[in-house]
Amino acid sequence: MATTYDAIVIGTGQAGPFLTHRLVSAGMKVAVIERKLFGGTCVNTGCIPTKTMVASAYAAHMARRAADFGVDAGVVSVDMKRVKARKDEVSAQSRTGLEAWLKKMENCTVYEGHARFESPREVSVGSERLTAERIFINVGGRAATPQMPGLEQVEYLTNSSMMSVDFLPKHLIIVGGSYIGLEFGQMFRRFGSEVTIIEMAGSLIQHEDEDVSLAIKEILERENIHIRLNAKCIGFSKRGADIITHVECTTGAPEVSDGTHVLLAVGRRPNTDDLGLEKAGVSVDTRGYIVVDDQLRASAPGIWALGDCNGKGAFTHTSFNDAEIVAANLLDNDPRRVSDRISAYALYIDPPLGRAGMTEAEVRKTGRSALIGKRPMTKVGRAVEKGETQGFMKIVVDGQTREILGAAILGTGGDEVIHSILDVMYAKAPYTVIQRAMHIHPTVSELIPTMLSELQPLSGTADAKTTH
Ligand SMILES: Cc1cc2nc3c(=O)[nH]c(=O)nc-3n(C[C@H](O)[C@H](O)[C@H](O)COP(=O)(O)OP(=O)(O)OC[C@H]3O[C@@H](n4cnc5c(N)ncnc54)[C@H](O)[C@@H]3O)c2cc1C
Repeated sequence: MATTYDAIVIGTGQAGPFLTHRLVSAGMKVAVIERKLFGGTCVNTGCIPTKTMVASAYAAHMARRAADFGVDAGVVSVDMKRVKARKDEVSAQSRTGLEAWLKKMENCTVYEGHARFESPREVSVGSERLTAERIFINVGGRAATPQMPGLEQVEYLTNSSMMSVDFLPKHLIIVGGSYIGLEFGQMFRRFGSEVTIIEMAGSLIQHEDEDVSLAIKEILERENIHIRLNAKCIGFSKRGADIITHVECTTGAPEVSDGTHVLLAVGRRPNTDDLGLEKAGVSVDTRGYIVVDDQLRASAPGIWALGDCNGKGAFTHTSFNDAEIVAANLLDNDPRRVSDRISAYALYIDPPLGRAGMTEAEVRKTGRSALIGKRPMTKVGRAVEKGETQGFMKIVVDGQTREILGAAILGTGGDEVIHSILDVMYAKAPYTVIQRAMHIHPTVSELIPTMLSELQPLSGTADAKTTH
C-alpha cells in the first residue's frame, strides 16, 4: 500500500526545500526524499565549500602581499587541514540547519533513500511506496567523467572528492578551463600547489567575450598558473609516481609531466539516469536533461522538474528561482516564467567576474544598434586604494530603447556591483536612470554612471549615434 501525499519532492537541492515550505504553508501534506546529503551540491560540494576555500586562498594571497600595504606578515604557510576544517564547518552549518528545518516542518515527512518512479503518480524509496498528484523533481547533477585514454590509470579527483583533500597537491593538473576549473586552479595555486589548467577550446571560459577571457588568462598567469589551450587530445599515463598528461596543443610540449593529482572539471551531467523516468512518461533530451516548458512542467502531467536537472540553468540562483516560478504558478495565481529571468552569474576567481545579460559578442550577432562603455579597474579609485586594479568593466546598451543589454564586471567587488546593473535591467529602465543616480564614494559602483556617460557606438552594429 502506498502512502498518499498531496505532493512529493525528490531531492533537497536549492529548489526542493523552499518549494516544500511553500506547499506545506498552503496546507498540503508533503513527502521530501533525499538520498545523500541535505542541501545537495551547493551546500556540500559546490558554492558554499568552494567559496569558503576561496576565502582561505584570498587570505593567503593577501598575507603574501602584505608588504605592498606596509604590513609585515612574515613567512606565509597554509595549513590545509585547517582550511578543510573551516570549510567543513561552514558547509555542515548549512546542511544541518536545512535538515533540521525540513525534519521539523509541520506536514512534511522526510524520507532518506534513493527515489525512483514506479508510475506517473507513484515513487518508491527502498521498501516504501509513496503516491501524490503532484511530483517535483529536484535531483541536480554530478561531475561528468568523459572517456579519455589512460584515465583508468590515474586516480582522478572531481569537485566532490576535492572536498576531502586536506593536503597540498604538489602539481595539480586541472582538465577544464571553465568556472569550476578556474576557481579550483587559482585557489590551489594560492595554497601553494603548482597548477596546470588544460582546456580543449582555444580560450578559457569560452562563452565569455574574448577580452574577458583574455584578461582572466592574464590574471591567472600572473600567479604562475600554467595554461594550455587548444588541447585537442587529452590522455594520461604514469611514469613512476608521476602523472603524465598528454595534450595535443597548437603550442607547447606535447605532454605535461610531473603531475601529482588530476582534477576533472569538464562539465556536469543530470542525475536523471536512475530515476525511473520512463515509468512516469517523463521525457529527457539527448543529454539527459528533463524536458520542461517555460513554467517547468515536465512532459507528463502533474510532474515538474526544477534546478540543474532541467537544463534551464546551472546555478543555485536559477534553481531557487525555479522554485519561486513553480510556487507562483501553483499557489499564487501568478504566471511567472523562466523566460522572465535575465542571465546572471559570477566567476569566483580573484578578482571576481560578475555577469548580467548578453555578452558583447551576442549583442553584435543581433546586428542591432548598440552602445558600449568600458573602463579599466586602474581607473576606479576604490580598486586603486585597495591595491586590486586587475580587470575592467564594460556595459552594452541598446541604441534605440536605451535599455541595458548586458554587462561584465571583472574586478574587485564585481560579483556584488553587477547587481546595480541587473536591477535596472529588470526594471526595463533606460541606462540614464543609473547614469543620473548619485552613488557612494569611494566605491566601484560610483564609476558605473561615469562609464555610462562615455558610451560609444558598438562597432559592427547599426549606427547608434543618432539616438545617443
Ligand atoms: C564546484 C562547484 C561550485 C559551484 N559554485 C556555484 C556558485 O558559486 N554559485 C552558483 O550559483 N552555483 C554554483 N554551483 C552550481 C550549484 O551548486 C548548483 O547549480 C545548485 O546546487 C543547484 O542544484 P539543484 O537544486 O539542481 O540540485 P542539487 O543541489 O544538485 O541537489 C540535488 C539533490 O537531489 C538528491 N538526489 C538526486 N537524485 C536523487 C534520487 N533519485 N532520490 C533522492 N534524492 C536524490 C541529491 O542527493 C542532492 O542532494 C557550483 C557547482 C559546483 C560543482
